[in-house]
Amino acid sequence: MIVEERITSFIHSMSEENEGIVEEIRREALADEVPIIRLETQEWIKTMLLVKQPMRILEVGTAVGYSAIYMSQYISPESRITTIEKWKPRIEQAKKNFVRANKQDQITLLEGDAAEWLAKLDGSYDFIFMDAAKGQYIHFLPDVIRLLAPNGVLISDNVLQDGEILDSKFVVERRNRTIHSRMREYLYTLKHHEALETSIIPLGDGVALSVKRDC
Ligand code: SAH
Ligand code: MG
Repeated sequence: MIVEERITSFIHSMSEENEGIVEEIRREALADEVPIIRLETQEWIKTMLLVKQPMRILEVGTAVGYSAIYMSQYISPESRITTIEKWKPRIEQAKKNFVRANKQDQITLLEGDAAEWLAKLDGSYDFIFMDAAKGQYIHFLPDVIRLLAPNGVLISDNVLQDGEILDSKFVVERRNRTIHSRMREYLYTLKHHEALETSIIPLGDGVALSVKRDC
């Protein structure tokens, strides 16, 4: 927890409940221990969508499709979401969930490794949600920046890793060191890249909000 439990509980107590099938999918995902976005993070993303009103959204890390379905509620019917997932059982569940939520025409699932898909994709996206394996964000970044439209928004989830990111690498357990140094490198790059302006926010598990400069 990077935010005090009582503050998070307070924010949750003020939150709107999802309705119908979206809430059903959320509960199933939690029961199956799928690492879906947190309530306070989803509400913040909702407001970002309403500010930005994107037409083309790219998500890296579908899991069972919860966040894609959640986001689809706050974009125009003409907007499209493309989302990438590599793990077969989750792909199958996500496909079912898109049909259950009647979002199969608005959401396109790309099956396979994000690194390969990102290298192949072209065109531009005005909203990208990075929510896959944290140790790979830094490798995805060059393609993500290429795919981001001018003034496009990049949201990266889970960037503060329960606060461990603050610790010196010498106190981080050996098995977590690679991910620790890669996430530090990722945040440093987001903050110093000439094409981006970034704000790191202690919300949920830590999010970074980046905007691509129109240059
Ligand atoms: N965005 C989802 C949660 C995603 S969890 C939600 O909030 O509902 C992260 C997912 O990224 C996992 O399902 C994992 O299998 C997937 N993933 C991790 N690395 C990946 C990669 N290199 N390519 C594609 N998917 C990946
Ligand atoms: Mg996440």
